[in-house]
Amino acid sequence: MRDYYINGRQVVGMVDLRSDTFTQPTARMREVMANAPVGDDVFGEDPTVNRLEELAARKVGKEAALFVVSGTMGNLIATLSHTRPGDEVILGAHSHIYGYEVGGLARIGGLMPRLVDDAAGTIRPEQVLAALRDDNIHYPPTSLVCIENSHNMSGGRVTDVAGIQALAAVVHERGLRLHMDGARVFNAAVALGVEVTELTQPVDSVMFCLSKGLSAPVGSILAGDGEFVARARKFRKIVGGGMRQAGVIAAAGVIALEEMVNRLKEDHARAQRLAEGLSHIPGVQVMDSNYQTNILLIDIKGTGLTAGQFVTELNELGVRVLTRSETALRAVVHRHIDDEDVDQVIAAFEKVAAV
Ligand SMILES: *Cc1c(COP(=O)(O)O)cnc(C)c1O
Repeated sequence: MRDYYINGRQVVGMVDLRSDTFTQPTARMREVMANAPVGDDVFGEDPTVNRLEELAARKVGKEAALFVVSGTMGNLIATLSHTRPGDEVILGAHSHIYGYEVGGLARIGGLMPRLVDDAAGTIRPEQVLAALRDDNIHYPPTSLVCIENSHNMSGGRVTDVAGIQALAAVVHERGLRLHMDGARVFNAAVALGVEVTELTQPVDSVMFCLSKGLSAPVGSILAGDGEFVARARKFRKIVGGGMRQAGVIAAAGVIALEEMVNRLKEDHARAQRLAEGLSHIPGVQVMDSNYQTNILLIDIKGTGLTAGQFVTELNELGVRVLTRSETALRAVVHRHIDDEDVDQVIAAFEKVAAV
């Protein structure tokens, strides 16, 4: 349980399940941020940024990595770096890149999205094959496929190693590139009990967030081969993401990677306990098998309340979640949620559902 600031007002004892982006930097992060050696990163001279980029590349088994401001910037730069304006990109209709990144791939990349159904949390090779166009004077060239792991909108579902390998095989056979929006790829790896490199090695590039469950205050990583990252570095500059003494924030990213990955399993265990507790409440249904990682989708249709009403009632009881639809909520478990909080959330849901 933590004290939170909402619209500048301190709210004592709120259990905030809106997102894992609400995690505060750890004491150790603040310490290393204060003492980080820094330089001008646009000149490649910030030793802490360089250290983070080397560490991040190694962690995901890639030649090189780039520190970027956000996951949105990392995905945008990845799509720009893999394509040319006018190309078609195959991605999920429920993907974050398509739905929640302000249409950057169209506005800035001049790219045409070709959507496939990823409601189940993944994209299968057959879907890519079906979406591919022949070589025809009427058609745009297709150059890129994007996969999201874990998959946010489906409730944090994961694509396993075999699924990624099969997709990569088809994509590469057709001469296309595969980008992974791995905002929470460490959650996926921990949930699957595999090394993250097993999930990232088959793809040409991967973006992951330091700022979500890993608790860094700012920043994401885009990784790939050396040539890709060199191109991405130029595009980062184009979109205004060339930072100077960025080691101050990169230092927290180093701690995120060194100290915060293994503890994600605690979030998953609590998410599971929360899911089990909620599933016994009449009218409340945790949507099928969606507590593999730290994101729960909760259907509250059976309570007769709208999602908006349910959220307002939960707020009164000190619990914050987001609406996902008219009848569904999203709850994300993270470092500031302890066992007691899980009990409080279950009790709050019981109370609201019984009204
Ligand atoms: C959060 C998120 C992003 C974007 O990250 P920001 O740092 O918020 O821009 C991208 N993809 C997925 C799947 C996410 O959950």
